[in-house]
Amino acid sequence: LVVLTDVQKYFGDLHVLKDINLSVGRGEVVVVIGPSGSGKSTLCRSINRLETIESGSITIDGVPLPSEGKELAKLRSDVGMVFQQFNLFAHKTILENVTLGPIKVRKKGKAEANQRGMELLDRVGVGSQAQKYPAQLSGGQQQRVAIARALAMDPKVILFDEPTSALDPEMINEVLDVMIQLAEQGMTMIVVTHEMGFARTAANRVAFMAEGQILEEADPEQFFTNPSTARAKDFLSKIL
Ligand code: ATP
Ligand code: MG
Repeated sequence: LVVLTDVQKYFGDLHVLKDINLSVGRGEVVVVIGPSGSGKSTLCRSINRLETIESGSITIDGVPLPSEGKELAKLRSDVGMVFQQFNLFAHKTILENVTLGPIKVRKKGKAEANQRGMELLDRVGVGSQAQKYPAQLSGGQQQRVAIARALAMDPKVILFDEPTSALDPEMINEVLDVMIQLAEQGMTMIVVTHEMGFARTAANRVAFMAEGQILEEADPEQFFTNPSTARAKDFLSKIL
């Protein structure tokens, strides 16, 4: 579903993505893990074209990433994104945050969008908060709203960039539980996270990145118990 082939990305002289090859099939969950600065966020941002790549190709469902205009808007709406900082619209209610995309981009009617929005908010456990504003919710609740907002667009794939790293410890699991449910329901997901429990429960594969390269791609159990590169061993000894 998502295929990256020989992707190169520079920021000026800095070679941030070095010959990245990664393929994520429909319904697969791939966890991307690696040290700070290794290019994980840049990888996610390249997949929905918040960043442009210098060479190589990225295709979604066989279609190359368009560079601009309507095509790009369509692509973006097919690729959901959940960030570390929830990025909700502060001046819109929780329900409005979730219905805005479907109404503006998918041209849904308000009643239909509201009904679906409420279903999704219930599904992530924040239906009772629908009329509140983001600042009135806890971090864990806000992040679950961000997930509902991504789902409201019926994306083909959702990218998660460290979705729990800004959360207080007691809120991490409520967000991971929603993500595990999504994985079980067959959503295609690329998840940057160091949460080993999530990787072990939900991931089909772990991709280990360091200095702009994917050094290792492995089954989660194998990666966490017996990584094959010294770089990964060293990294795991620091985070576990
Ligand atoms: P972290 O775990 O800290 O989030 P990361 O793996 O997500 O790190 P990236 O944010 O992708 O890493 O950054 C990769 C490299 O690119 C880093 O050296 C970073 O300083 C650099 N970088 C990221 N964004 C830009 C930018 N807009 N302009 C210049 N350099 C950038
Ligand atoms: Mg990052």
